[in-house]
Amino acid sequence: MKMKGTVSDACHSVKVVEGSAAFQDVIDNHIYEQTLTQKSAFFVADLGVVLWQHVRWRTHMDWIRPFYPVKSNSSPVIIELLAALGTGFICASKRELELVRGLGVSSKDIILSSLCKQLSQIKYAAKNGIDLLVCDNEVELRKIARSHPGAKLLLQVAVMTGCQEEEETAMSLGCSLKDCRHLLECAKELSLQVSGVKFQIPRHCQDPEVYTHAVSDARCVFDMGEELGFQMHILDIGGGFGDTEDMLQKAKRAVKPILDVYFPPSTGVSVIAEPGAYYVSAAFTLAVNIITKKMVARDCSNDSQDRVSADDEPEFQYYMNDGVYGSFAYKLLEDSIPAPSVHKGAMYLQVVSAEEPLFSSSLWGPSSDGLDRVVEHCLLPELSVGDWLLFSNAGANSLGTLSCHGEEHIPHIYYTISAGDWYEIQNSGIILDTTMKSISLVHCLPSTLPKDSVSSPA
Ligand SMILES: *Cc1c(COP(=O)(O)O)cnc(C)c1O
Repeated sequence: MKMKGTVSDACHSVKVVEGSAAFQDVIDNHIYEQTLTQKSAFFVADLGVVLWQHVRWRTHMDWIRPFYPVKSNSSPVIIELLAALGTGFICASKRELELVRGLGVSSKDIILSSLCKQLSQIKYAAKNGIDLLVCDNEVELRKIARSHPGAKLLLQVAVMTGCQEEEETAMSLGCSLKDCRHLLECAKELSLQVSGVKFQIPRHCQDPEVYTHAVSDARCVFDMGEELGFQMHILDIGGGFGDTEDMLQKAKRAVKPILDVYFPPSTGVSVIAEPGAYYVSAAFTLAVNIITKKMVARDCSNDSQDRVSADDEPEFQYYMNDGVYGSFAYKLLEDSIPAPSVHKGAMYLQVVSAEEPLFSSSLWGPSSDGLDRVVEHCLLPELSVGDWLLFSNAGANSLGTLSCHGEEHIPHIYYTISAGDWYEIQNSGIILDTTMKSISLVHCLPSTLPKDSVSSPA
């Protein structure tokens, strides 16, 4: 496996670090550096996590090719690494198409998934041979017929989940079986090709029954399509596989039996999926700095039992140098963001430390906007301006198209991989198909910075 390249402006260096505490040391060192300089927020990415997730995918879902949704995290190193591992890509905008093509991804490995496409997107796809487009309504179908007559469509079929909270969004994605017949007839009339079906099961509704409905509906659409003379050969089961091996296995248990019934290998149908958070969530840790602190009167109206502080103890509002209008954009998709761990000068503290008194706290982004509340309520030791907070599992939807950092405000990303992971991966039969041109490996000696020399200059 090669990971070499010429060092250029576009080159991203990946530190290969030694030792078991390697990742934590890398974070500590960058906190130390930043404490002495700008105190800017930053990410540390562990590429080993991405590689292991891919190994796990191959273990459990080998017969399903992953197509990675670029919007989940569009940092070029991630795209290039996944491309080298052989995943395809799901793009939802012209910018995403340009990004993955610019990194050398072949047009046949790209699906344009947006359901409402601006004409320029369709034309860009047509011009660059990106033929797989997702579609769920007639207006889009006619637009595609005019601007990309060679397109191969995946019809997105609606999924009935019975999950109340998801009902509204699920209903608006994809068309009913009846609409599918109409769309297939339309496509026929317009001489457009339909090549398969896509469905997307909402993240919290991944139970076997929902998959059973979705896959059997997909089978219906395949049958209708074949009846009309289409070569139906792609089934896209969407994303939402969580970020742990347990969740992946749960999804497998839900989907495999029903796929075996309706789409066994003998049908020749390629089954693909769109795991996003799965690949990147746990690979990234976000470090942010406390820039302001307020002590506020306690709001007793929503007092909850988990308060350990006595009634007259203060509640703190901390303001951080990144918020929901930047890297914490993923809060839009999460129920809540778990409390961070605290990095106070010289000591690395666990949040639940027996010795430190804990106070009711809320964590805010820097925008002075009421919506910019990152963590509603958590218990933290008392923090000072200049302290650091570390948010783990921050890789999904923090560096993609959801976040709206101004170009210059994207936090720096430090890429690392542990030497152990690096060698184990190479022995695990993972083959990188291509050389990653813009990534260079930098071998580092174990940290020379003694831990207790890290101190807050404040
Ligand atoms: C975001 C997204 C996904 C990924 O969802 P995860 O829950 O992160 O796996 C898949 N497909 C499309 C079209 C998406 O926009």
